[in-house]
Amino acid sequence: MLNPERAYNDAVRVLRSLEAAGYSARLAGGCVRDRLLGLAPADYDVATDALPDVVLQHFRTEERSTIPTGIDHGTITVVMPSGPIEVTTLRKDVETDGRHAQVAFGTSFQDDAKRRDFTINAMFEDADGRVYDDVGGQDDLKAGVLRFVGAAQERIKEDYLRILRLFRFWAKLGFTPVEGTLEAIAAERGGLSRVSQERISAELLRLLGAPYASDALAAMHSTGVWEVVLPELQGAASLPEANLMQTWRDHLATPHRGVAILGGICLRFAHLNAAGLLRLAERLRLSNLDGKRLAFFAQGAELLKVSAFKQTADLLDLVDRCEQAGGADAWTQIYAPIWNADAGLKAATLAIDQAELKHGHLRRAKLPLSGRDLSKALGMATGPEMGQVLEALKRSYRNGEWRSAEEGLGVARALLGKGA
Ligand code: ATP
Ligand code: MG
Repeated sequence: MLNPERAYNDAVRVLRSLEAAGYSARLAGGCVRDRLLGLAPADYDVATDALPDVVLQHFRTEERSTIPTGIDHGTITVVMPSGPIEVTTLRKDVETDGRHAQVAFGTSFQDDAKRRDFTINAMFEDADGRVYDDVGGQDDLKAGVLRFVGAAQERIKEDYLRILRLFRFWAKLGFTPVEGTLEAIAAERGGLSRVSQERISAELLRLLGAPYASDALAAMHSTGVWEVVLPELQGAASLPEANLMQTWRDHLATPHRGVAILGGICLRFAHLNAAGLLRLAERLRLSNLDGKRLAFFAQGAELLKVSAFKQTADLLDLVDRCEQAGGADAWTQIYAPIWNADAGLKAATLAIDQAELKHGHLRRAKLPLSGRDLSKALGMATGPEMGQVLEALKRSYRNGEWRSAEEGLGVARALLGKGA
């Protein structure tokens, strides 16, 4: 995580360094918005009138490490001690195909503000903390509203992703769109099919994990955007209410919130099974890991419903399965918060929580007995029988029936005597 003060100081150093060389440079967009709101920006973007090649050369001369991230559209990443800072040459939109705006480099901060999406995202701040606001962004921040820079419908047609960006900022800040915006969105929603799925999915996951997501979701539903973005969930009779979204969110680990909440909605409101979830993950072009994570919401829920869970080992095994699907700590960080909020799954979830709390160390421990020990001490050959014995040993170990290797061998002998 960024150290907020160091990150800001580094951003100011970048500004001053460009200014000392005779260029103009200001903080731009989201970081200015967040600072005015008293929030710590996730990252700092700098806008400058220096051309990308010049920026690259300038920071190389200063012996900063630089990455020509998006040199064609004007962005150079400068690696500062606190983290990377993106320095982008001022731009002016010249043409657009509804997916990517064609831009030309410019020298005017006013023009650059005009191509940004919302007024609250279109402000600049200089190294002395002076804010430049040509679009009424500060008033809109105070009023808590989202307003496109310029005419909503036109701005949407330039880049349909802005529809989802609006809902994401709604979900993040609790700001509502000004009059006429939702109508424009409803009218233009079909254009979302022209935007790459990766860009849509990235916005969608961020949106779902944000604090005011349930309000944004309701509006996505009423404008018909929800069914364009997630047609798989058309069968859902309703969408989660604020309380449930809040409960989910409170207990989920931050990086997994989006995927887990998507899983929760699919499972509980649209009753998708594992195959349906996998298909959804593929269409959304989620990573393989996120796809596995998503599918296990259904697989795991089935196990919770049908398993008898008589023994500690069964409970701990389910935690293992969660981790196999979702990675380390997937039980606590991803699955338990969603299943625990479901009346039908709550009892089993609590039982597993208890078992993990009390006996999780047994699950994480390496079994004190290996296949090699079994062949040495009991002359067993490797093969399916040994596999079965080891599996049974693991169960009984997790059930607390033995601890030392010696005790384990005793258990193994007994198992073999019974023809395990
Ligand atoms: P966050 O803090 O969530 O990253 P952000 O506002 O910084 O929010 P980014 O996606 O990082 O959002 O974009 C940085 C800035 O670039 C925005 O504040 C906005 O001014 C501009 N921007 C980004 N995407 C678009 C877009 N599709 N259309 C117009 N302007 C955009
Ligand atoms: Mg940003």
